[in-house]
Parts: sequence; structure tokens; C-alpha cells
Amino acid sequence: TAPSPLSVFDSLESEVRSYCRGWPAVFDRAQGARMYDETGRAYLDFFAGAGALNYGHNNPVLKRPLMDYLLRDGITHGLDMATTAKRAFLESFQNAVLRPRDLPYKVMFPGPTGTNAVEAALKLARKVKGRESIVSFTNAFHGMSLGSLAVTGNAFKRAGAGIPLVHGTPMPYDNYLDGQVQDFLWFERLLEDQGSGLNKPAAVIVETVQGEGGINVARPEWLRALADLCRRQDMLLIVDDIQMGCGRTGAFFSFEEAGIAPDIVTLSKSISGYGLPMSLCLFNPELDVWEPGEHNGTFRGNNPAFVTAAAALDAYWADGQMEKQTLARGEQVERALLGICDENSALGAHYRGRGLVWGLEFADKSRASAVCARAFERGLLLETSGPESEVVKLLPPLTVSAEEVDEGLEILALAVRET
Ligand code: PLP
Repeated sequence: TAPSPLSVFDSLESEVRSYCRGWPAVFDRAQGARMYDETGRAYLDFFAGAGALNYGHNNPVLKRPLMDYLLRDGITHGLDMATTAKRAFLESFQNAVLRPRDLPYKVMFPGPTGTNAVEAALKLARKVKGRESIVSFTNAFHGMSLGSLAVTGNAFKRAGAGIPLVHGTPMPYDNYLDGQVQDFLWFERLLEDQGSGLNKPAAVIVETVQGEGGINVARPEWLRALADLCRRQDMLLIVDDIQMGCGRTGAFFSFEEAGIAPDIVTLSKSISGYGLPMSLCLFNPELDVWEPGEHNGTFRGNNPAFVTAAAALDAYWADGQMEKQTLARGEQVERALLGICDENSALGAHYRGRGLVWGLEFADKSRASAVCARAFERGLLLETSGPESEVVKLLPPLTVSAEEVDEGLEILALAVRET
């Protein structure tokens, strides 16, 4: 018998691999919201590179400038040298994102990936305040390096390596089921008790929607109460917008709906738009206490990523179209999920989400994985979320068409029926 197409992965690649287990195919090419395996079988992608492909795969609007740049021998690796590609990105970011929102942020390029931005944010907050502790939330996910893990509320990701929640204060995330805004009274009392001493937290780090932690959506009023608490208690507010930023919830930044202005923001995933590694740490100018070279890294100047990032900002964020389209597709997803939940009320099916990030959960926590496995067999890529992988996560590219949304949600409805 012929060897399995996955045999080289099984024999050589570490047991740590995960996606190839849920999706046992060898992928070869992709376009828009479709991926194709090496046999030519097509899959509708409602995973979008874990949020790194908000504009779909190989988007021609980004591919063309990238190809031109490579063909003219543009700089590929530039550390933090001044380059034409980086200048064009900074100008586009200023014009399409910062200026229209009246956000004065300075831009730092901390390294290739999300966790690099989180590390920079934590380090900066601690340096600015001269204090160590950071407040983080239950079920939070901020990355896999040691500092990020120390504010990540997932014992499985942390505990194997013995990473404690060091210098941290874990807090319950917004519990939208209780119907009341938690007013942080007890926490404020605790903070006042600590005075302005070293034990007082330097910052709070929060996701507006917990993408890995189960698609938990914080209410705008909870986020505003948190921002007020930070201001009163002299703590910096860090919004980790790595997964929910770049338009996932509709607006470019996920915190815009709440009307808050964090002191520090982290972005990565879809900022390059093409799945190329790139991350940003944004902060108010008065927080720019870095000395030159105090925080650096070899791969913080991914110039091809600057090219695609600038193209994405110019094409999709210079007018309001992206936001409108995302919200329209999101409403379409929500209507379909409502139908699925009505049909499956006996399974305790319920859903939640915002923009184009949605979660579907059942009373039996193991059903989500079974539904994703069945969806894969029917040609739809869906991942689970939550500490027990109990939530089916829907994260299509923002450029997904109305027909593709219908197609994907029909497969999902079938997969639920068939599990
Ligand atoms: N922060 C959030 C909110 C994330 O969702 C992720 C990744 O899923 C990260 C940080 C870590 O980013 P990366 O995996 O690129 O290091």
C-alpha cells in the first residue's frame, strides 16, 4: 500500500503539531476563502489563518504590489533601517488608521509575531510605571513566550513549562451572563489598600473578545468601566488587538465601539494582510521612554510585509467599505446561527460574537470538536476555541462573499445534524 501523504509529518515532525490532526490533508494552494489540498480538493476556509488572513488568501490587490516589489529587488530584510517600504507603510497607517480616528500613537515594530508585541507592551508598561505587576483575565490568551504566558489564563498552555502567573493579578473576564456591569468595587478597594507601592499593578491587559478563550465578548460598558478604573488607579490600559483588530469586529480597532482609547495597543496577525509575519506595538507619545536599541530583534523589518500592509490599508481602510461589508456578512452569519440554534435547542446550542467572529456552543462540550471534524469531511475548515475546545469558532476572511457565507453555514448546519 502507498504511504499516507501525512507519513513524513508523523515520523519527523514533533508531537506538538495540532492543526494537521484536525485537518488531515496536505494543503498546496489557496485563493480568497478557498484552500486546496494536493489532490485538488477544495475547502472553504472559515479559519483565515487564525485571523492572519482577514483579506483572504493571495489577495490580488496585495499580491500585485508584492510581486512588483520582489521583482525590482526591493529590500527584504531591513532590521529597523529606514526603507522606502517602511516609510510607505507608516504613511498609509497614519492616513488610513490613526488620523481619521484621532489617535496620536507612536508606532513600534517589536518583531515578527504577536507575542513579540505583547512582550514589548508589558516591558514598556513596567518601565513607564516602575512597577511589576500586570492585571490579566481568566481565559485570556496573549502568546507563547514567557512574559505573554504569564498573563495568559490557560493552565494547559502555561503549566507544562511551569510558568506561573508571575507578577500578575488574574481577574474574572466580563461575565455577560450576569446582566450587570461589574463595577470593580472590590478590586478598587484592593488597589487602594496597596497604595502606590511596588505591588500595585503597572497595567491591565485585555482582549475585547477572547478569540482563543472561547469567543467571550466583553460588553462596551464593561470595557469603559475598566478604562475608568485604569485612569483612576494610575494603571496603563493595554488592549491586545492581535486577533480582533484589523477589522475583525467591523471597525479597524475592536475597542472603537466602546469609545475607549487604550494607552498601549498590540497588533499582528492581519496587519500585513498577506499572512506575512509583522507586529506593531502602538502607544501614546508620552510613554515612549525607550532608549535607542533597548528593545530589538533581527526580524522586525519585514519589508515585503510593509508592502502588503500598506496596500491593504490603502485599498480597504481609506473609505468605510470594509467595515460595512464585515458587519453585513456578520449579520448573515448571525441569522444562520440563530437558525441552527433554534433547530438544535435540544442540544443546548447557543452562539455569540461580533463583526465576523462567532462562536457556537453546545451543552455537551465534546460536540464542538465532532462538528468541526464532520465539517472538514464536508469541505469546511473550522477550528474550536475555549479552554476545553468547547466552542466552534467561525472566523472567515472579511472579504468572504455572501454566497460563501451561505455555503459555509449550510455545511455547518449539516455537520451539527450529522454529529
Ligand atoms: N494575542 C492574541 C489575542 C492572540 O489571539 C494571539 C494568537 O492567537 C497572540 C496574542 C499571539 O500571537 P502570535 O501567535 O502571533 O505570537
